[in-house]
Amino acid sequence: MELMSPAGNYSSFKAAIKSGADAVYMGLSLFNARRPAKNFGFTELEEIIHEAHENNTKVYITLNIDLKSNELTDAVKILLLLVKVKVDAVIVKDTAVIYLINKYFPELEIHLSTQFGIANSKAMTAAGKLLKAQRVVLARELNFNELKALNNDDYPEREIFIQGSMCYSFSGRCLMSSWNGGRSANRGACQAPCRFLYKKNDENIPESYFSMKDLSLADKIDVLNELNISALKIEGRLKSSDWVGEITSIYRAILDHSTEPDLDVLQKFSGRELAHGFYGGLDDLTSEQKIKQGQFSDNKTGDTSVGKGKYDLSIMLQNNKIIINIFSDYGNIIVTVPHKWIIKENRAIYFSELEQRISNTSFGGLFLNKFTIKDDFLVTKSQMKNIISEIGSNIAPLMNRERKFLKSINVPAEIESELKISSSDIFNRIPVDFRNATTLRINAKDINGILKSIGSSSVKKVVIDQAGPDDLDKIVELSEIIKVEISLFPVQFENDIHELEELISKLEHTKIRSFEINDIGHLMLLKNSKKPVNGGPFIAPYNHVAAKFMNSLGMEKVHMPMESDIECLKGLSGSEVKLRFTLYSKIPLFYTRAQNNDIHTGDKFTDFQEISSVVNKYKDISIYYSDEYFTTNGIDLNDLNVNELIIDLSDETDIIKKFEQLKIHPEKFKGNSFNLKRRLS
Ligand code: SF4
Repeated sequence: MELMSPAGNYSSFKAAIKSGADAVYMGLSLFNARRPAKNFGFTELEEIIHEAHENNTKVYITLNIDLKSNELTDAVKILLLLVKVKVDAVIVKDTAVIYLINKYFPELEIHLSTQFGIANSKAMTAAGKLLKAQRVVLARELNFNELKALNNDDYPEREIFIQGSMCYSFSGRCLMSSWNGGRSANRGACQAPCRFLYKKNDENIPESYFSMKDLSLADKIDVLNELNISALKIEGRLKSSDWVGEITSIYRAILDHSTEPDLDVLQKFSGRELAHGFYGGLDDLTSEQKIKQGQFSDNKTGDTSVGKGKYDLSIMLQNNKIIINIFSDYGNIIVTVPHKWIIKENRAIYFSELEQRISNTSFGGLFLNKFTIKDDFLVTKSQMKNIISEIGSNIAPLMNRERKFLKSINVPAEIESELKISSSDIFNRIPVDFRNATTLRINAKDINGILKSIGSSSVKKVVIDQAGPDDLDKIVELSEIIKVEISLFPVQFENDIHELEELISKLEHTKIRSFEINDIGHLMLLKNSKKPVNGGPFIAPYNHVAAKFMNSLGMEKVHMPMESDIECLKGLSGSEVKLRFTLYSKIPLFYTRAQNNDIHTGDKFTDFQEISSVVNKYKDISIYYSDEYFTTNGIDLNDLNVNELIIDLSDETDIIKKFEQLKIHPEKFKGNSFNLKRRLS
């Protein structure tokens, strides 16, 4: 089994190699799921990879976020660079990147990110056959039996996390951070609101309900060996080099059988209680969180500059010299200036004031991320001023150097034309306006409530979520009256597959019109179906190339992401693919397998910003829906044409009446515009 360590910066990289990692994974200054880490500049990559290969260590680059259309050109430039520097694999999430690698860069090995949420055999087959992944980083929510079901030579290699922090929500299906403030987990900007304290229902004292214990499978290595797991990944690209070095040595020794696993020793590497995660069962997964309300977890720095370039400063006074270490996404510099003599102490200021003075200042587009000072000291005001301009003049060119470097890479004409946004008018003729909505989304349990009135309404199609075998008769009855689409649930484990296959085969012989998929494995389940297949919100493309690729995989229409901002919608509207968009909906923020006897359906959790979610359940999965509705009302989307507009009234009463009212008077229905008035980071 390969031991893979995190390299959030150069010293962690060195520590990992020295301590026996077989591979390291690292992000670049753009497009990776650990934006708060320092990551690596494009210009230093070749040397890094050379150094790793000299030490027989593989390097995997994380390009594991969903990209907007206007980011694809830079992504291609990065792929060109990765081919040139002979990276060992790329860890990816966006299907456009997967498509581009398979078509233009076949020499690059694809590892599917855990954000893809691969958790069953059908998804594994799709990962190998449709996405041509050589390796899958499995969803972190599996147990050992489920891992066993995926032990098959026909599937891609399997990699799992062996140590590190865990998500409360199922991998890649979390919108909590995006809903809370536009910081998307799918785009590497999660602010970890699962670590926040929440008030439950009417309780006054907030508690930590969703903060997961950390994972360690150190004492399960033999089991993993038997299951033919290919790679074990240590999570922690935001950790220090000492941490990376020490933990890598421990796992190296365990893998080499030169030491026995000792969870007590490993515990010191974690700020939280260690456990076996979902491998150890579904309950008792969360624990008290030490951080305060509104603070971020210890492994997510208080990143004030997500979505912008950033730098850290570390300062010390030594031998009468002020030493300023600048660590940035684009390279590191040390600035040394003599400490000026202070004549009048009352006219001097403490050097730590620098943090506040530059916290909102951009140097060449870079913002301060983290400020550390060893033993504060006094400086004159004029020296402070000079030092600020010294820091600025050193940082600004760094960003330009990286930008220039990317700019200097030419995208081949063939790929450039692939990235061109074209007109989608032939497929998408419906202006985004409540009056044009004709599709209603409900849960299967809501069918009885609409059967009588649906025939005389303006609804032309009903999409049904959370359908099971017991709902078959109702579905048949409804499909005699109106077009029905069955949406497949976005979280599927191996045990769900058989029931799903049976349901699909029964539905195949009914009048239902189509299926909506929300997991890549659903494509395999439906491969013999004669009914059209559409993409649902949980397999949504974020850019026009991904939309086209999904269409080529068999999705007739694709759904735009629920967390879209205007930029994302505009890019997607250039797809030659039929687009669907939801105008009004509660947003599923967490899907979790974690069970907690203190949490029940209907419980409401409210964070320090007064943002609430309410729990619902489907089978063994708890879904935390936003308490507020998302609505496009009040947002000017006149330029945007789509193929189908959806109103989601799942779990509502008087559904048909509300559907009709919403179309005429959407302003009467309160809601939240989600990311439509802000930028999706
Ligand atoms: S908020 Fe969601 S994505 Fe972010 S750390 Fe928590 S569970 Fe994971």
